[in-house]
This record gives sequence, structure tokens and C-alpha cells, in this order.
Amino acid sequence: MGGDRESWLAAARRTLPAMRAWRMGFHLEPELSLEEEKTQEKVVAALNELGIPFRTFDDFHGVVGVIGAERSGPVVALRADMDALPVTECTDLPFRSRYPGKMHACGHDVHMAALLGAAAMLVRSSHSTGGPVKLIFQPAEEEGHEGGAQALIDRGCLADPKVDYVVGQHVDPALALGTVGWRIGPTMAAADDFTLTVIGKGGHASTPQQGPDAILVASEIVTGLQTLVSRVREPFDPVVVSVGSFHGGTRNNILPSEVVLEGTVRTFRSSTRDLIERSLKRRVRAIAASHGARVRVVYRRGYPTLVNPPGPTRVVAEGLSVELGRKNVVEVEHPLMGAEDFSRYLERVPGTFLRLGVGVADRPASLHSATFAPDERALVVGATALVVAAESLQRSPP
Ligand SMILES: [Zn+2]
Ligand SMILES: [Zn+2]
Repeated sequence: MGGDRESWLAAARRTLPAMRAWRMGFHLEPELSLEEEKTQEKVVAALNELGIPFRTFDDFHGVVGVIGAERSGPVVALRADMDALPVTECTDLPFRSRYPGKMHACGHDVHMAALLGAAAMLVRSSHSTGGPVKLIFQPAEEEGHEGGAQALIDRGCLADPKVDYVVGQHVDPALALGTVGWRIGPTMAAADDFTLTVIGKGGHASTPQQGPDAILVASEIVTGLQTLVSRVREPFDPVVVSVGSFHGGTRNNILPSEVVLEGTVRTFRSSTRDLIERSLKRRVRAIAASHGARVRVVYRRGYPTLVNPPGPTRVVAEGLSVELGRKNVVEVEHPLMGAEDFSRYLERVPGTFLRLGVGVADRPASLHSATFAPDERALVVGATALVVAAESLQRSPP
């Protein structure tokens, strides 16, 4: 930090009232994946107000802005996701969701407000960070399959000007308010999902001997799937296989002819991802066959593993330590089994994905819960983290 200018942290504090207002606007009117129409309008209005040129798309609610397009130097893209979740909000916030069944329960409202805050700081500061900064507002992160990142990449968000580094962040209630977390290597899991339709023979429940009982076969499949975790993968390589829904039957004395199971698979290594997919299909078919039942398997790949490359991650962590103080910048020990389509940018461009601490001791709430209410003071650190990450990568490329 040059002694003659305001620190980024101080600039962020001055920007807090604006960030708070943006965040409130997003929070009040949450929109689900691929429906982010009003959210897009709000982002567009804020960028217009800040005088930042941007691009929108006919068929998609993303917004891509750029600050200092004429500057030479590395191009850093900063990304925030825009969508909310199908959750009915149960907080006592004065600006809680207006819509039953829709809520910003994953903190994407905070991500957008922090990115707008960072943008405001960058346009108002007399100090350029050293190169163009792209602002990526991305819909449909929660969608889970194609995801909004892929859609924006397909629409050229990493080109013109070509992006050299990409940085994103996610609120994290496990990290204390005021801190930022970083991690090198695999940081979030790959997420795939499956639907298994077990086909037996329906009939009277008093005569189960007459045909394969789909309920029994499905139950054996649920238990059998756990041996993929305990006996197929390597013990030091984290894997989760969970069945989240189990549907079949109409009443106590009728055996249904069909049971449908749905579940998710989380892995880190791509070899393990292939292995679990193959083994799951084989195991499921073998269990069904051993009962003379049939099974239809649909296995869908979702987001890839999020891997933070060491070079850019270290450069950003170092820059953050200088700005925020070493004790407020923490190396996160464990990866998360959750998934993020920020991984799709990192597959193409180096960069890093940070965690923004929103944890407060006596106010525990988890992401995706109806009571999730991150402290808005995190906006100050969030906006600072984005600006400092861009500046660090542009000044001292890894
Ligand atoms: Zn989420
Ligand atoms: Zn999220």
C-alpha cells in the first residue's frame, strides 16, 4: 500500500452504504436459476450508475462489465453468482424475501453486492490496478448440470479482452467474520447425480414370492451403494454417495412394480469419478439381477472438481495478508464436498476461489438454510478481497 492513498479497506468501508443497499435489493427479490431477470436489471442499473460499460445477452441473464478496457496489463475477471434457492425465508431481517419459496440462502446477494462494491472502488480510485478488470455476473450457479458458468464461457465471457486470471469468492459460515480463506489444490468436489428406476413385479403384499419386490431390491441397492465408498475407492480419497429420495408404492398391502431412487456422487479425482460411475452402474445392475429385477440407470455428470492452482492462489493470499493483516487471511485445511461451477472457469484460466468469512459465534446458520443471514459487514472484506486479488495478480503475476 502506498502511504499517500487511502487503503482499499478504508475505501470499502466508505462503499459499505452503497453495497448494503444493493444487497438489500437483491435479497428482497430473489430469483431462481435461469429466472434472474430483475436481478439482471438491478446489476445493469448499478453499472450504469457507476459508468461501467457492460454486455448483456438475448437469451441469458448474465452481465459482463469491463473497467479500463484500454489499459495494457493482465486482464483479471472477478465473478459473482446471481441466483437464489427454492427456500422459504425464516429470518427476521427487515429486508427478507418478498417471495415465499424463494430466498438468497446461499449468499449470492452478498457476492453480487461485494462485486459491485469492488467495481465502485476501482472506478473511483485514482490508482488503477494495472490492467483491465472484468466483472462477471453469472446466473444459474445452483442449477447443477450445465450451470451458468458454461453458458457464459460459451458466450465469450473469457474473451475480448482475453482473461488472464479469474477470481471468485463464496461466503462461508465456518470462517469467522472479518477473515478470508484460501486453499491450494482441490477445494470443492465434483458433483454428479443419478436416477435409478427399479422395476419389479407389482402385486399383493401377502404374496411377495410371486415376483421381484422393487421395494426390497431398492433397499438393498441403497445399502449396497455404500460399499462403493468403503470398498472401491482409496481410503485417503474423499467420496460421498448419498441417496436423497426414495419413491415407490401407494399403500400398505400393495407391492409397487416400480421404485425410483435419486442420489448424488461427490468426488475429487477424475480417475475416482470414472471409477465410481462405472462401479455404481455395475453394482446396481448386479443387485437387481440377483433378484430377477430390472433397473434403469441414468447417471448425469455435473460440475467438475474446483482446483485452485498454487501460483495465483499464493499471490492473492500474500496480497490479502498485507491488506487485511496476516491473522485475517487463513489457509483452509479441508476441501468441501459441495460443488461450484466456478470450477469451469478454472479449467480454462488460472485464478483462485476464496472463502469469505461470515461466521458469528452465537449465530450459527448453514448455507441453504431458511435462517441463513450473513452479517453485512462481510461486504467490506469481500469487496476488498476482490480488488486486492485483482491488483496482486496484475502487479506481480505468478
Ligand atoms: Zn448454494
Ligand atoms: Zn452458492
